[in-house]
Amino acid sequence: MYAVIEPYVTNAELQAELFKYRLMHHAQGAGPQTSPLASHTSFVGPGFTSPYTGFSGRNVLGVEWVLPNGDILRLGSFDHNGKWFSGDGPGPSLRGVMRGWLGAYGGLGVFTKCAIRLYSWPAQKDWKWRTGGTIPDYEWDIPQNWKIYVLNFENWETYEKAYYEINDRELAMIATTSAPEGLAVLFTNTKTEAINAIMGGLLTKIKKYIIVLVAAHTRREFEFRTQLLRVITEKYGGKDLVETGVISPKPMHYGEAVRNMLGAHAFRFSNCFQSTHGGMDSISLAVRIAQLNKPIKQKYIKKRVIGDDKGEGIWMTGYEGGHMAHLEAPTVYDPTSAQSCSGYTEYQDESNKMDLEQALGMPFFIVGDDVHNYYADRTMNYPDWLRKIKNAFDPKGASDPGYYVTGAAKKK
Ligand SMILES: Cc1cc2nc3c(=O)[nH]c(=O)nc-3n(C[C@H](O)[C@H](O)[C@H](O)COP(=O)(O)OP(=O)(O)OC[C@H]3O[C@@H](n4cnc5c(N)ncnc54)[C@H](O)[C@@H]3O)c2cc1C
Repeated sequence: MYAVIEPYVTNAELQAELFKYRLMHHAQGAGPQTSPLASHTSFVGPGFTSPYTGFSGRNVLGVEWVLPNGDILRLGSFDHNGKWFSGDGPGPSLRGVMRGWLGAYGGLGVFTKCAIRLYSWPAQKDWKWRTGGTIPDYEWDIPQNWKIYVLNFENWETYEKAYYEINDRELAMIATTSAPEGLAVLFTNTKTEAINAIMGGLLTKIKKYIIVLVAAHTRREFEFRTQLLRVITEKYGGKDLVETGVISPKPMHYGEAVRNMLGAHAFRFSNCFQSTHGGMDSISLAVRIAQLNKPIKQKYIKKRVIGDDKGEGIWMTGYEGGHMAHLEAPTVYDPTSAQSCSGYTEYQDESNKMDLEQALGMPFFIVGDDVHNYYADRTMNYPDWLRKIKNAFDPKGASDPGYYVTGAAKKK
């Protein structure tokens, strides 16, 4: 199944339409107000449901692309017309040119239409999106066969093994990890509640945890998945923090999870956060990034320029029920303090350097000529290829190069 979307469609609108047909799409983790077309065609693309729905760039089936010279290029297909259907085009992959891994961030023309892959929405037939109550404690009707677990493991080693098995067995719609403070903020509704949870001893009860949402179509599927999850948890000495009463996700948090609103909870601490790292590779590389990042982050925490999460602030998700994962390190800082802003920037530079030196993959936020150039030497000079693409598709430099690369036209 697929949907064809245009600019100005939001993730919330698309979800509302698709639920009627018991379908869902991959929505990026930025929230219901954001654009699935922007994400699928042009900009990064993990989301909370990535273990099930993947990554935006991998769900593109077709695009209508207004090239910088005004020509219209149609790639892939938008219906079953029996004509050309390959999303890559003939010859070298045109989808690779337009999207690559992270997208061209608006540097290669404008997309006016996009066909995207859809997934089955695991809820009972008569389920409807129903909310009640008011801010900050909304109610939400949880589908029958859904349950959130917070599985806590002693150390990274057992965590990693369990993570591999949970993904490999395709048990989870969501399998994600944050810092201990992150858990407090994810499953509470106000800053006060989050701080109370932290002060109430939450941090002492948490080691390395995976938030797992099991979302099954039928009772039988639900029982199978939950039993298997229990077996895996026990095998690696894990404990469910929900079952033991340490943390209690409320119905609203289930809704926020599929609406990708949990990420916005991070704003509750200082109104500002940014991520470092993001290399997309294996689950074990993601875990290695978390371990290596901790002392760097602690250095800047000690300088009191970024928020104190003991260096453990991360966000990790698996993809497509396989071995693939990415890990980024969200960091809160104070946007009203010049010292904190420049301190954060130094931390980010040091993190980027570590990605390069320790071969941890390319971080998410490589934007503009200078940052691309920084990686060129050690990555077979890939920015030269980006510039060749920019020159071929945009010889007059009509499209904004700010977050992509500058072609020859702008250099003169
Ligand atoms: C709290 C928070 C959490 C986030 N979590 C995630 C996450 O989990 N995953 C993730 O991928 N991102 C995440 N982000 C970043 C997020 O993806 C972007 O902020 C989001 O995609 C912006 O959506 P938008 O609809 O406002 O797009 P815009 O900001 O309008 O566009 C994004 C980019 O796409 C380009 N673009 C937009 N429309 C077109 C078009 N029609 N043709 C060509 N280029 C176009 C723009 O030039 C721009 O470079 C997060 C951001 C926040 C604030």
